[in-house]
Amino acid sequence: MISDHATDATSPSARPIDVLWLYPRDMNIYGDTGNVLTIERRLALYGYEPRIHAYNQNDAWPDHVDMVLGGGGQDTGQKKIGEDFQRRADALRDLAANDVPMLVICGLYQLFGSYFETQDGVKIEGIGIIDAYTVGRDVRMIGNLMETSDDFGPIVGYENHSGQTFLGEHAQPLGFVESDGMGNNGQDHTEGARVHNVIGTYMHGSLLPKNPVVADFLIHKAAEHRYGAFEPQQSQALRDELVRIDADATHA
Ligand code: GLN
Repeated sequence: MISDHATDATSPSARPIDVLWLYPRDMNIYGDTGNVLTIERRLALYGYEPRIHAYNQNDAWPDHVDMVLGGGGQDTGQKKIGEDFQRRADALRDLAANDVPMLVICGLYQLFGSYFETQDGVKIEGIGIIDAYTVGRDVRMIGNLMETSDDFGPIVGYENHSGQTFLGEHAQPLGFVESDGMGNNGQDHTEGARVHNVIGTYMHGSLLPKNPVVADFLIHKAAEHRYGAFEPQQSQALRDELVRIDADATHA
């Protein structure tokens, strides 16, 4: 179950990993909570202690952050978080520069770029971690999304957005859409973006239950950030459960 505060470390071998979950109240649609549940479960299966910190506007910022997760949202949700998000921009930029892994979906992906101009002409400032901008159009891009990523291989999910995102020269696409889906803008075949250990993507779905390779990337980087290395401590039963979960997720 998702806890919104740190769990006490009761055992001397507890190895916490602190996960910041951005704006679950306003930015959390099309099953994006599944990403948080997946990280929480897989961290436990690898023998870490997941500490999930849900952060909404005006909440306290956690002392430790080893990973950042954030979901998508309606334009109205993006407007609601705008002011608070700008106040947290420096903290998030510092974390990104320190190689903290992050996964931001759709609405928050757009706001990790420089701005999102909505269809009604409102410009919502982003925080510029990803070199990209987004412009709302009157055609929604909805449907299954399948891409091939140099880093992760095939990735599958579901997209639903009106914003078209264009990457600048400092952002690498996360992957390329070959057949199913529109991706960043429906024109250049790119989908998502990757900067440092930050992944932005239009993949709802949820993404991580269906693409455990991405979940494990985030977990490895978080463990390296906190402990210098990823070192699972697992019983055979935990290893077996991971194998079973991964077999269920296989889609390639
Ligand atoms: N409101 C944004 C758009 O429509 C993001 C939508 C989403 O997060 N699914 O482009």
